[in-house]
Amino acid sequence: MIIVLRPDSTEEQIDHVLERIRELGFKPHLSRGEHRTIVGVIGDEDRLRGQPLSAIPGVEQVLPILKPFKLASREFKKTDSVVTVGADAGPGVKPVRIGGGALLMIAGPCAVESFEVLDTIAGSVKAAGANLLRGGAFKPRTSPYSFQGLGESGLKILRDVGHKHGMPVVTEIMDPRQVDVVFRHADMFQVGARNMQNFDLLKEVGQTKKPVLLKRGMSATVKDLLMSAEYVLAEGNPDVVLCERGVRSFEDSTRNMLDMSAVPNVKGQSHLPIIVDPSHATGRPDLIPSMARASLAAGADGVHVEVHSCPEKALSDGPQALLPPQYAALMKDLRRLAEVLGKTF
Ligand code: PEP
Ligand code: MN
Repeated sequence: MIIVLRPDSTEEQIDHVLERIRELGFKPHLSRGEHRTIVGVIGDEDRLRGQPLSAIPGVEQVLPILKPFKLASREFKKTDSVVTVGADAGPGVKPVRIGGGALLMIAGPCAVESFEVLDTIAGSVKAAGANLLRGGAFKPRTSPYSFQGLGESGLKILRDVGHKHGMPVVTEIMDPRQVDVVFRHADMFQVGARNMQNFDLLKEVGQTKKPVLLKRGMSATVKDLLMSAEYVLAEGNPDVVLCERGVRSFEDSTRNMLDMSAVPNVKGQSHLPIIVDPSHATGRPDLIPSMARASLAAGADGVHVEVHSCPEKALSDGPQALLPPQYAALMKDLRRLAEVLGKTF
């Protein structure tokens, strides 16, 4: 349920509305827009039926939300959310804005392998225009015998290299027990496809004040993705960026099937930013540039691309990595496209 407050409602009236909602056993979510203040009421709406909430002073309208996700819905917030990453990363690091015309350009290797390799890659992607460095330190590998990531030492390398090059960093978290250590080193959590429905993890990152990149599960519907975002938002963390990265299908010439329609589909239903990861979606360097361009044309708020200086030696996902010059050429195209679309990065 959404409670829309009158434009002239006073702070006391707003406090009273919040207090009344808590009294009824619900959790209020206050959202102050430029023109409107609204309160989301989270919980079983049936229990509110018959409550004369519109009689509370300062309340203009009480609206039910029919969708199962509420805080993530367009009904709850009409304007596009803008998420900022790296605002407290320290001097020399440029915070990144995502949404409302500002594009997130994530690049980096699949996994953090060493300071030297990451430093080389970071220098090249930064020069090409990337604004957020990626690299996994906790890797969700299909085989337990594959490289599992460097753990905390990998996180330190990622932060040191990213910040040295003026970029905030994003890295994957797989387990609620990793929240403290990832929180200390990274500027954004990445919840990967395999953990999109790890609800304990979603609740845990939802209790922090760090932005979350939430990737679509490989067999998740758009509604499932938005429900997972709702878990994070319901815990009080409003900074969620969604990521379409392809879903499993019968097609076996690409790693996954990129669902480009998810971008406008999400935009219609939610105010959250959404980016596209053509690397994991296709698994093929020859398809990544065209799908990255298509992503921006479809309205995505950015792209996420894996880049490696020597793919043949990469410890994870080498075959799908773009070489730095290929990434630079792609970014040149994306900059021109962004200009046409009235967006910036
Ligand atoms: C990744 O970004 O390295 C990754 C494992 O992606 P996904 O969760 O989309 O498979
Ligand atoms: Mn990867």
